[in-house]
Amino acid sequence: MNANSLLLERNHQFVERFEAADLPIFPVLNTLVLTCIDARVDPAHILGLELGDAVIVRNNGGRVTRAAIEEIATLAFMVGKMTQNPEPEFNVVLMQHTQCGAETFANTDFQTALKDALGIDVSESAIFDQETDLMRDIDRLAESPVIPGSLTVSALLYDVKTGRVREIGAPRKLAELRGH
Ligand SMILES: [Zn+2]
Repeated sequence: MNANSLLLERNHQFVERFEAADLPIFPVLNTLVLTCIDARVDPAHILGLELGDAVIVRNNGGRVTRAAIEEIATLAFMVGKMTQNPEPEFNVVLMQHTQCGAETFANTDFQTALKDALGIDVSESAIFDQETDLMRDIDRLAESPVIPGSLTVSALLYDVKTGRVREIGAPRKLAELRGH
C-alpha cells in the first residue's frame, strides 16, 4: 500500500485539532534551523518545535552549501524588507547529526562516481568530522558577503543513538566573528 493513504489519514486527524490559522508568517522564535534531510533528524521532534516556531532548511548533511547560503540570504533579505531593517536580528542554528549519510560524500571514489554518472558535485556537502565541519560552516556563513552580520549563528550536534543535542558552537553574532 502506498504511504499516501496513511499520510492523508494522519492529516484528517491533524485537521480535527488544528488551531494554527492565525499564526504569523514570521517565525515565533525568530529562528532558522539548517539540518540534514535524514528521516531520523526532524527538528520539530528533536527540538520540540511547534507550528510557526522556526524556519527549517534541510539538505543532505545539513551543511552550509552555496544553495543553503542563498536560502538564508534570501530569507534575511525578505525579513529586512518586511521589517524595514536591512540588518535583521535572526537566529540561525546549524544542526548536524551522528551517523550521517553525507559521510559517504567524503569518500573521493563516491564523489567521482556521482560526478561521472550524474554530473553532481557533493564535495561541499561532505561530512568528515561533525564538530570540525560545524565550525567550518559557521566560518562559511561569516565569510559570505550576502549574509548580514546581524544574524546570530550557533551549532548543535544531534546524537541519533541517544536523542541528545550537544552545543558545539555557542550563539555568536556574525559581525563579531567578522571582527566588526
Ligand atoms: Zn545526515
